[in-house]
Amino acid sequence: MSEPKKTAFFKAAEKTNHSAIQRRPSLDEEVYETLLAQLISLKIAPGNRIAVDALVREMGVSQTPIRAALIRLENEGLVIKTHNVGYSAAPMPSRAHFEQIYDLRLLLEPYAAKCTAEAVTDEVREELAALDQAMATPNSDDNKRAYSQFALLDAKFHNLIATASGNRLVAEALARSYAHMHLFRLRYHSVVTEGAVQEHAAIMKGIIAGDGQAAKEAMEEHLLRSLGRWKPFFDATP
Ligand SMILES: [Zn+2]
Repeated sequence: MSEPKKTAFFKAAEKTNHSAIQRRPSLDEEVYETLLAQLISLKIAPGNRIAVDALVREMGVSQTPIRAALIRLENEGLVIKTHNVGYSAAPMPSRAHFEQIYDLRLLLEPYAAKCTAEAVTDEVREELAALDQAMATPNSDDNKRAYSQFALLDAKFHNLIATASGNRLVAEALARSYAHMHLFRLRYHSVVTEGAVQEHAAIMKGIIAGDGQAAKEAMEEHLLRSLGRWKPFFDATP
């Protein structure tokens, strides 16, 4: 427990040279990632109950890491807890909600990218580069897990830019929209990951160069393309 949360998708950020030095994720992290993969791949369908006892049997672990993962997923908006009922998978947001998520992101994230570029530090440069590198090289042979790891890294990439903007209200508004996690539940597919890596590289280039305008435009471009990739799937939701 010495380094909570700092496993799996943070691995690349630790600037280890190669996989030989990579630590195995902690049990908490493994249980979290397993549940996240089940939610994103819809193995646990939206609205379905999540029984802790059943997970204990299925995963062969105690209740503790499962409860810790469920609390984390609840904070991320993927799981809801109802009094006397327990945990269930959050319902899939409506199409209108997805459209609002993109409206919000288009208003806030290009601005955040501009602010981040104009005040960029070496630490932010390094963290962004490490995240981008990790997204380009999935560290799992299991497709579902690789996909949910990509979802986490993408969320981390965008959160980092929002936080580094220095505007806390912007960062909080974006975090509260739970945009990433819901989006990735729309479709479990690698198509959505390919373009994103290149677009992220363009955002990073602007930020690293301290070019606010370039970072802003690259973020706008990324969000519009991402919207184009997802739209067919949220158009199909009621
Ligand atoms: Zn992205």
